[in-house]
Amino acid sequence: MTKITPQPGIMDIALYQGGQSHVAGVDNVIKLSSNENPFGPSPKAIQAVSDSAANLHRYPSTDHASLRSVIGEKHGLDPARIVCGVGSDEVLQFVAQAYAGPGDEVIHTEHGFSMYPIIARMAGATPVMVAEKNRHVDVDAILAATTAQTRIVFVTNPGNPTSTMISDADLTRLAQGLPRYCLMVIDGAYAEFVDGFDGGAGLVDRFPNVIMTRTFSKVYGLGGMRVGWGYAAQDIIDVLNRVRQPFNLSLTALAAAEAAARDEEFLTFCQAENARLRVWLAEELAKIGVPSDPSFTNFILARFADRAEAEACDDFLKTQGLIVRRVAGYNLPNALRITVGDEEACRRVVAAITAFKGGAA
Ligand SMILES: *Cc1c(COP(=O)(O)O)cnc(C)c1O
Repeated sequence: MTKITPQPGIMDIALYQGGQSHVAGVDNVIKLSSNENPFGPSPKAIQAVSDSAANLHRYPSTDHASLRSVIGEKHGLDPARIVCGVGSDEVLQFVAQAYAGPGDEVIHTEHGFSMYPIIARMAGATPVMVAEKNRHVDVDAILAATTAQTRIVFVTNPGNPTSTMISDADLTRLAQGLPRYCLMVIDGAYAEFVDGFDGGAGLVDRFPNVIMTRTFSKVYGLGGMRVGWGYAAQDIIDVLNRVRQPFNLSLTALAAAEAAARDEEFLTFCQAENARLRVWLAEELAKIGVPSDPSFTNFILARFADRAEAEACDDFLKTQGLIVRRVAGYNLPNALRITVGDEEACRRVVAAITAFKGGAA
């Protein structure tokens, strides 16, 4: 070899596109492109972050015992079977790194999170995309696409950017149907926005090859802190901890997440506001000819006549200081993903799209 060369697959990785946050020349911009909590982090998390500052010369906990115990207590899970990561993205990466490699296949779904093919390629594995059915994960199609090479299946439930959900019965059918050498990862980034959903924790307890991932980035408003976690059988957790750096979570991140997890009052408020406003937003947009599927998340997927209309609406929203997300890269060219903001933000979105539709008529 005559020159330095990255490992196979690395140069096939398309860089992740984050949500835009500025519009040149427009003030009073509201960012509704990354499904962030419009109410910010819990005030208790902010306090915990500032309290942690005096100890920044100390290395953080390596085993995250305190945070795992709070999470375990809150969700009724065994803390020993929890692993924490720099966002759930890192937990997903541990899974791919530990369980997939060159020659292996990693299944993700048509409109699934764009990080799945990225982390599959990071591990040198081959991502395999499976079609969805009317913007819903299609269990039969996944089972049909599973081969002797399939090592991991990533399913987001509820989905991003679809906002739809599959039933517990369908999730169970998928877990039952997959071969035991294949891991099923249930990405529950939006589980807190579904009343009564356990995120797949019950399935983890029933199947040795099911993993649930969760995050503090969405309802807890800590996207900037990067804290996520996974729950699985003990032997899987033991494997993931071997590829985890000992100090992956900072002192500050651990303190913020623990305080946020303990603040039930703030959580309940954010959940209630989101549940109320996502229905209002969807209904108002439906009245003006912009339908969406019932949302189980903190965003709606607004559908337009075609790609041209979706892009024109996005351009217009930007002039109004509203940043939403184009999702053509998720095979949804005629749609825009709009985070459910606070009431003022939702009203501004409805007013702007009404003006856009009126102007177009
Ligand atoms: C936001 C999101 C995550 C969370 O990522 P973090 O790394 O925890 O910030 C994971 N999966 C999906 C589908 C998401 O939308």
